[in-house]
Amino acid sequence: MNDTATIAVRPPVQAAEHFDVLIVGAGISGIGGAYHLQQQCPGTSYVILEMQDNFGGTWWTHKYPGIRSDSDLYTFGYRFKPWVGPPIATAEEIRTYMGDVIAENGIGQHIRYHHRIGNASWSSATKRWTVQATNTQTGEARAFTCNFLYMCQGYYNHDEGYTPEWAGMENFKGQMIHPMKWPEDLDYTGKKVVVIGSGATAATLIPAMAEKAGHITMLQRSPTFFRTGRNAIEIADELRKLKVDEMWVHEIVRRKITYEGAAFTQRCLDEPEKVREDLLGMVTAVLGTDYDIEKHFNPKYRPWQQRIAFIPDADLFKGIASGKASVVTDEIERFTQGGIELKSGEVLEADIVVTATGFHMSVMGGITFEVDGKPVDWSETITYRGMMFTGVPNLVWVFGYFRASWTLRADMVGDFVCRLLNHMKTTGTQQVEVGLRDEDRDMKVLPWIDEDNFNPNYLKRSLHLLPKRGDKKDWAHTQDYWNEKEEFPKLDLTDTAFHYA
Ligand SMILES: Cc1cc2nc3c(=O)[nH]c(=O)nc-3n(C[C@H](O)[C@H](O)[C@H](O)COP(=O)(O)OP(=O)(O)OC[C@H]3O[C@@H](n4cnc5c(N)ncnc54)[C@H](O)[C@@H]3O)c2cc1C
Repeated sequence: MNDTATIAVRPPVQAAEHFDVLIVGAGISGIGGAYHLQQQCPGTSYVILEMQDNFGGTWWTHKYPGIRSDSDLYTFGYRFKPWVGPPIATAEEIRTYMGDVIAENGIGQHIRYHHRIGNASWSSATKRWTVQATNTQTGEARAFTCNFLYMCQGYYNHDEGYTPEWAGMENFKGQMIHPMKWPEDLDYTGKKVVVIGSGATAATLIPAMAEKAGHITMLQRSPTFFRTGRNAIEIADELRKLKVDEMWVHEIVRRKITYEGAAFTQRCLDEPEKVREDLLGMVTAVLGTDYDIEKHFNPKYRPWQQRIAFIPDADLFKGIASGKASVVTDEIERFTQGGIELKSGEVLEADIVVTATGFHMSVMGGITFEVDGKPVDWSETITYRGMMFTGVPNLVWVFGYFRASWTLRADMVGDFVCRLLNHMKTTGTQQVEVGLRDEDRDMKVLPWIDEDNFNPNYLKRSLHLLPKRGDKKDWAHTQDYWNEKEEFPKLDLTDTAFHYA
């Protein structure tokens, strides 16, 4: 990955280029955003600025063995482009799909790679954003102006993953790797590998590495919920046998998956202990009743307070059952030269330690923002529906779902952006900003997300940096796809929450 911190930044040599819309990031959200703009706002000029050397976002920056989605691609894929492969897909398959969307819609010509945006400043006088970017290859500074900023930069820092500080790390003589920076030439054949963490990344890495590694251990402080199943969707295969059009297959399977997702979420709320039993039953089915499921796979939190990763064909558990992989639930006391000493006194020998310990949230792609010369502190803003922010004009952020696929929301936000831009065009307005209505002024202002509802560590670590929500649904990212899909198309753009100029 290129890092502008290591190259001298040169002053701009060209005048600022202007676009109606500037999209930040060429991940699943940015490419989808470009498609929606082309379809729903024809004639709108736009550019996508991407700091990497290729499209894909998450699916390009992560290159660890076995990388795959943990949600199905019928709903992680776009509404408008049928998914025709197995539901759980590899990063490469996801990028091929995105590449097809880019090629089929002529989006490639709008993407500028190697452009890292550092600053964006809004002027109410010109009703424009000025965006400063740096070419990560040449160090050349480039300025752009735009009427509207479409923030598709995701939610975490792509430069560096999160690795906690442990005592004695400096003494460890083996290799320590974060999954976000996977060395291309890493040979782990016959090596003792310890993966710290038990989230979706660890659950993917372990079965993928188990075959070649000497032994691989998943070291977790506390257990995580998983679901298992076949990497196939029966109804999709049936419909294909009947030669049903792929667009129909896509839509039917999406409806089935989102319907079942709603039912599952409701069950988690209504009978969490029954769901817990079912989830643990899936693990027992592979590991057997002699295995200490209680210690290693029964989390303290309720199902759905954290994302539940899907384990296709139970490969993680099959790896454990075969003896190639194992799980240790304990805490790290310190690193030693040859591995990790645990609080229980047990020592795990390791040639390679993989820290699948998550990432740092990045509120707006590490970009500094100003509005009329005043720096924006996102934690002082209140969000409108998790998309717009008080005091920040002409800007929408795509923040997807945690419990449902991210892209379900990216598509809906795309529709909203297009509707908003078309509304502004029709009414001859150039600026839109959200503001609390009189009746909203005494509502409770709360952190971005309710920790009791959803509480992964990366969010907890960064809640103080994120925008605030109110206790009314217009002023929150509710994480509720099933209501939002009905409400978003009807959001009233003439409501007094929208201030136009
Ligand atoms: C390993 C992993 C697996 C995941 N699996 C799933 C899953 O199965 N299902 C699911 O729903 N979600 C999953 N997620 C969450 C996932 O990140 C999102 O679903 C989705 O890929 C986010 O897409 P995005 O385009 O919004 O952001 P990203 O994929 O993060 O892409 C953002 C792009 O913006 C660029 N960018 C950022 N800042 C700047 C800047 N300042 N200047 C220029 N460019 C910038 C980045 O380089 C990047 O290319 C996963 C996350 C990870 C890390």
